Amino acid sequence: MGKVTGFLEFQRLQEAAEPTTERTRHYKEFTLRLSDDQAKVQGARCMDCGIPFCNNSCPVNNIIPDWNDMVYRGTYREALDNLHLTNNFPEFTGRICPAPCEAGCTLGINNDPVGIKSIEHFIIDKGWENGWVVPQPAETKTGKKVAVVGSGPAGMAAAQQLARVGHDVTVFEKNDRVGGLLRYGIPDFKMEKSHIDRRVEQMKAEGVTFRTGVLVGKDFPKNVTNWASETISPEQLQQEFDAVVIAGGAEQPRDLPVPGRELQGVHFAMDFLPLQNKVNAGDELKDQIKATGKHVVVIGGGDTGSDCVGTSNRHGAESIVQFELLPQPPETENKPLVWPYWPTKLRTSSSHEEGCERDWAVATKRLEGRDGKVEKLIAARVEWKDGRMQEVPDSEFELQADLVLLAMGFVSPVQQMLDAFGIDKDARGNARATTDGDGCYKTSVDKVFAAGDARRGQSLVVWAIREGRQCARAVDEFLMGSSVLPR
Ligand SMILES: Cc1cc2nc3c(=O)[nH]c(=O)nc-3n(C[C@H](O)[C@H](O)[C@H](O)COP(=O)(O)OP(=O)(O)OC[C@H]3O[C@@H](n4cnc5c(N)ncnc54)[C@H](O)[C@@H]3O)c2cc1C
Ligand code: SF4
Repeated sequence: MGKVTGFLEFQRLQEAAEPTTERTRHYKEFTLRLSDDQAKVQGARCMDCGIPFCNNSCPVNNIIPDWNDMVYRGTYREALDNLHLTNNFPEFTGRICPAPCEAGCTLGINNDPVGIKSIEHFIIDKGWENGWVVPQPAETKTGKKVAVVGSGPAGMAAAQQLARVGHDVTVFEKNDRVGGLLRYGIPDFKMEKSHIDRRVEQMKAEGVTFRTGVLVGKDFPKNVTNWASETISPEQLQQEFDAVVIAGGAEQPRDLPVPGRELQGVHFAMDFLPLQNKVNAGDELKDQIKATGKHVVVIGGGDTGSDCVGTSNRHGAESIVQFELLPQPPETENKPLVWPYWPTKLRTSSSHEEGCERDWAVATKRLEGRDGKVEKLIAARVEWKDGRMQEVPDSEFELQADLVLLAMGFVSPVQQMLDAFGIDKDARGNARATTDGDGCYKTSVDKVFAAGDARRGQSLVVWAIREGRQCARAVDEFLMGSSVLPR
């Protein structure tokens, strides 16, 4: 604990951000990381409370109190090394993690929690600026070959860990660029893609081979991003590689089965968001879906919906309304009841701050249009009683809508991907594999493992990194009989 009285003396400081009027004119990140002096003060707020609930609340179990102290003392290199012990890509989580660690912070019981995420962001950016993040190639090679299907955070973490213990790793990605939803989902204004490119270069120098534009399997659904120009069969992978990791995510979107769904102008969020990321990357697109001048309705109150709001504002939408089926949560949580767990409460994202109308407990009944194009949305208010939803009588209303974006989450991994391997699934259609004990992360198919959203269902980047790391250890044990990789 750097400063014994730090938590009494200093207040939490949010990272500064460009004003909404400025940042909606571009697609770049707009959050400014803490200065050295600010980071020192924020690090000093950590009480080193003895039982670090933050460490347990963080899915990768970052050793938070230690690096808080190191930042307070200015030993940044040491802080970076400590952070990298548990997290391959802190520049991703330091930007886009919802920070469950902060919900578990002991100081948060009766004060603002330590700004853990902002300190993580500070440490890793310092590391890159100072040239401290360098390739760590294995000293000896094992001669074993591992295929990783999918280059999202789970696939990247698994590949990096496996390459660092000497395996020959090839990552297969159906899209034209590496990164999974980090690349084609999460908008650039939340995380610029140069962070992925830098890691890819590091991983290549560590011996990882990336093969983009290659679909493993065939017959993928049309509503899932796929820019593959080549296919490879699961059998071929199983023959050529000693182990295969399925890290293909949970890309099957939840649909809205209402009359009018087929109208032009009604799209899944993932038909909309990736295209803007492609344009930002310099691609020329003929048919980009744009919100410019349109009345936009986003259906779904979560993160993906919020990203649609932020992107629509940058396109210059005429109006934006975001609906959620569930009732509005309370503005603050009942701390003694929920701490140190992740509370259900009203969350206002940076995209919401940029402007949109939010409405809760609303169900879409149908979409209507003219000449095949959507023009309005008819909805009704709903009430929730004992977990059951009921329409409020006479509550129907209509709304002008030229662009309707469906952001109601993801049902499961694409079933064709798992079926192509013949992998057993759980009740939700995810790849069935446990996360502890003998044979963890192993699927029902010999030498095939699964990690990330493909195994746990739609989740978070930090969980994907955790699973990729743990799965790498399981694969290493399977190939070598034992492993030095962390659990
Ligand atoms: C719009 C959006 C915003 C989000 N925002 C956040 C956020 O702010 N913070 C956060 O923590 N989480 C966020 N998430 C969730 C997070 O992105 C995911 O939980 C995480 O990326 C899952 O990682 P993954 O590696 O398991 O899978 P993915 O990132 O989905 O990567 C899977 C990759 O596998 C590839 N693939 C699939 N099948 C095949 C195949 N057969 N052959 C070859 N390649 C294949 C896919 O093309 C994809 O690139 C967001 C999700 C979305 C959709
Ligand atoms: S990865 Fe997420 S939960 Fe873990 S310390 Fe960073 S912000 Fe917190």
